[in-house]
Amino acid sequence: MLRKFKEDTKQERLYYDMYKNQTYDYVINQNKKYSILNNAKLSINEILNIMDKFVDPSDPDLDKSNSIHAYQTAEKIREKYPYDYDLQIIGLIHDIGKILFIFGEPPWAIVGDTFVLGCRIPKSVVYYNSLKYIIEQHPDYNNSILGVYKEKCGLDKLVLSFGHDEYLYQVLKQNKTHKIKEKYMNIIRYHSFYPWHTMGEYRQFMNKSDYKKLEDVLMFNQFDLYSKEDKDFVLTDKIKKYYKDLLNLYFPKDLQW
Ligand code: FE
Ligand code: FE
Repeated sequence: MLRKFKEDTKQERLYYDMYKNQTYDYVINQNKKYSILNNAKLSINEILNIMDKFVDPSDPDLDKSNSIHAYQTAEKIREKYPYDYDLQIIGLIHDIGKILFIFGEPPWAIVGDTFVLGCRIPKSVVYYNSLKYIIEQHPDYNNSILGVYKEKCGLDKLVLSFGHDEYLYQVLKQNKTHKIKEKYMNIIRYHSFYPWHTMGEYRQFMNKSDYKKLEDVLMFNQFDLYSKEDKDFVLTDKIKKYYKDLLNLYFPKDLQW
C-alpha cells in the first residue's frame, strides 16, 4: 500500500518541522526570495545528475534517488501514451524543483504534501492526529475555512506551503526559452497538493478553470505514484538517450534557477 505514513519515522519528523515552520509570512518571504532566479544556470540534464544524490525524506514509498524516480515516472507515461511527449517530459522533470536542496533549503521547505496558509488547516492532512500538538500552535489553527481568501477566488490566489512544486513553476514561468505549455506547468504546480487533489479539501476556493486542473493533476498523479510500485526498474542507456533527445527539443537553452 502506498502513502502509508507511520509514526516515529523520518517522515513524521519532517512534517513536524513543516507544520512548525511553514507559516503565511514564511511562505510570502520564500516566494519573494525565489522570484529572483539568480542561484544558478543549469540544464535539465545537469539537474537530473545532481538529483542522483537526492532521496526524498518525505516519501514513505521511495528509497531510490530522485533521478530514478524521474525516469520511472516518464517511462510509466510513455508505456501508456507513447506519443504524448508533453506529458512524458512532465513526468521526467516534475520533481527537479528539489534542486532547492543545493541552495541550502531544509527538507521541510522542499518536499512533502503542500497545504494552504492563511486559512484553517484541514483535518485530513498527513499526521494531523499524531502532530496535533504542533498544529495547535500554528497561526492558522483557529483560522476560518475561508481565512484571508474570498470564496471561489481560484487556486492561483492561494498561498501554498513552499516547496519544489511552486519553485519549479516559477522557474518555468520566468524562463521563456522552453516549450512547456501552461496546462503542464499547472500539473507541476499542484502535484504535491494532496489535501486538494486527493482528499477533496479547499473546494471553497475553486473557480471553473480549477476543475480542469484537478482532472489533469489526478491523471498525472497515477503515474507519479504508481511508478513507485515498480521495484525492478532498470535505467538503461537507451532510456537515457530517448529523454536526452526529448529534452533538447523542449529545452533548447539552459535555464536560470
Ligand atoms: Fe514531487
Ligand atoms: Fe514525484
